[in-house]
Amino acid sequence: MSFPDRWDDGTDPSTPEHQVHWYDDRTAMIRQSLRTSFEGPFLYLLLGDDRALLLDTGTGDVPLRPLVESLAGERELVVVHTHGHGDHVGGDPEFPEAVGRSAEDVARYFGFADWPHGVRQVDLGGRVLDVLAIPGHHASHIALYDRDTRLLFSGDSLYPGRLYVFDWPAFRESVARLGEFVAAGNPVDWVLGAHIEMTAEPGKDYAMGADRHPDEHPLELRPGVLTELADVLAAAGEDPVRIERDDFIVFPV
Ligand SMILES: [Zn+2]
Ligand SMILES: [Zn+2]
Repeated sequence: MSFPDRWDDGTDPSTPEHQVHWYDDRTAMIRQSLRTSFEGPFLYLLLGDDRALLLDTGTGDVPLRPLVESLAGERELVVVHTHGHGDHVGGDPEFPEAVGRSAEDVARYFGFADWPHGVRQVDLGGRVLDVLAIPGHHASHIALYDRDTRLLFSGDSLYPGRLYVFDWPAFRESVARLGEFVAAGNPVDWVLGAHIEMTAEPGKDYAMGADRHPDEHPLELRPGVLTELADVLAAAGEDPVRIERDDFIVFPV
């Protein structure tokens, strides 16, 4: 299990459109280059014995399917999204099998009877992922927990950057529920989100829209950061408020 020394930070024009890093032999981390979009989103490809799950399709500014097929091999592709924002579903035209973008679509696909409550599973063949609904940044937002690697994929709800909160009460409830899920016997090694918007200097972010990120904060967050987010949201109360921490910035919009 490993992370790269550094991600493509947009400063080297000779880098490919996607940087691929294998965390282990069944877990590919893919960064769409900042040169192709200032969003520089992270996508994940999780391989099971039978199926390969692609989490997000990027901004759509560059071809993605040939890369994904080369990594997934013969496995059937399952394509889901952390949420429906354009920088995570932009590549969908290449993936007709992608699950829909609305909360209703996502709830139906995973079988949520009482969205956003409950935990659902998706089995890739010898690899089971837990799915939690965590609206707040976006109505259809989900988190994935991989029991094998103990990775928690948190999309735009927790990453080293500006956590844009569009629905404050929902976001508070979602983060609390996610924290309870982890505390209830689902240990996390690392929280992996969908962007990096902070520098290595604690609490300091890049300008909005910056497409070069020299000296980036690591992508991976230790599980204590999830607890920290839950705690500061609980303490913040019912009125939206901006909260700056070393590893994230809560950013109501
Ligand atoms: Zn988003
Ligand atoms: Zn995003």
